[in-house]
Amino acid sequence: MSSSRDGIQVVVRLRPLNERESNNTAARRCLEVVDQASLQYTGRDAPANNHFGFDRVYGEQCTQEEAFEGLTETVRSVLQGFNATIMAYGQTGSGKTHTLLGDVCDRQQRGVVPRAVAELGRGIADCQDDCQIKVTLSVIEIYNERIRDLLDPAKENLQVTHDRERGIVVANATAQPVANERDCVELMQRGIAARAVSATAMNAGSSRSHCVVYLIVERAFADGRIECGKLCLVDLAGSERQDKTAAVGLTAAEGSQINKSLSALGNVVNALTDPRGKAHVPFRDSKLTRVLQDSLGGTARTVIILCCSPSLLNDAETLSSLRFGIRAK
Ligand code: ADP
Ligand code: MG
Repeated sequence: MSSSRDGIQVVVRLRPLNERESNNTAARRCLEVVDQASLQYTGRDAPANNHFGFDRVYGEQCTQEEAFEGLTETVRSVLQGFNATIMAYGQTGSGKTHTLLGDVCDRQQRGVVPRAVAELGRGIADCQDDCQIKVTLSVIEIYNERIRDLLDPAKENLQVTHDRERGIVVANATAQPVANERDCVELMQRGIAARAVSATAMNAGSSRSHCVVYLIVERAFADGRIECGKLCLVDLAGSERQDKTAAVGLTAAEGSQINKSLSALGNVVNALTDPRGKAHVPFRDSKLTRVLQDSLGGTARTVIILCCSPSLLNDAETLSSLRFGIRAK
């Protein structure tokens, strides 16, 4: 499955047209799924070659369960002590939060995070003989280059540090032990509620901030050795350009911070997949890339889920997301 260099996989998920898009008679589509690994862009300003290949393409009929299936190997790698990142990229309204969280209380509609907790639970049941395993969950938000703890929102402006056993960590972020899916659901609800409150305080949707859910799997062996694997699940800020974000009340400064961290992410992913290798990887250019430093590239597995609207009304943003993904390959 992992055909890309450095374990970076790029998959695309189309969301169904919403009511406004399907009622708009002038609107057509801008994307057609060709097969399981490619699609055709049929919107405006199409490049000469309008076919795009990815590791996997999920059409709008794709269920939450199917979207998770391709991620199980990546999730399980964390039990072997590897780090991994799964992130959702796309414009506001393209399905990032639906994909990562979904309806956390509904078994059919729950997204990647609760399913990952369940998957880790199954993996732990299979391998818990030579070691003691502890899983903790943290939820942080990065907004305007500041990190806030969503499990304890009074903790603001947290710093990124390095810990000998756990690698890159957000110092003082709450790390709650999770024993089962129910714990996870409760914590996610707390995190989601805090994100909504902070979004209201910012006078906007949560689309301006990056939300990172960390699951740290710590294995303690009888000889005292401790090994950690970390799974970072990232709901990125909306990737729409500033001219559009201005329409939703975003100040230029806020817009440029968001664009800055997404372009820093693009540069990092680019450097990691540089065929000439050995490129300088500019992790320190943003808080987002700094937080993900030891979970992108190297031995870490990374999956970028490009969330796309197939509506012609969103063609420019959809094309820009496809291009972001192509640059990562
Ligand atoms: P984002 O987080 O990228 O801003 P959301 O995940 O909030 O976008 O999705 C926007 C809307 O579209 C929500 O109402 C969501 O439920 C719906 N939606 C997104 N993806 C899907 C999907 N695959 N199937 C059904 N509804 C979806
Ligand atoms: Mg969202």
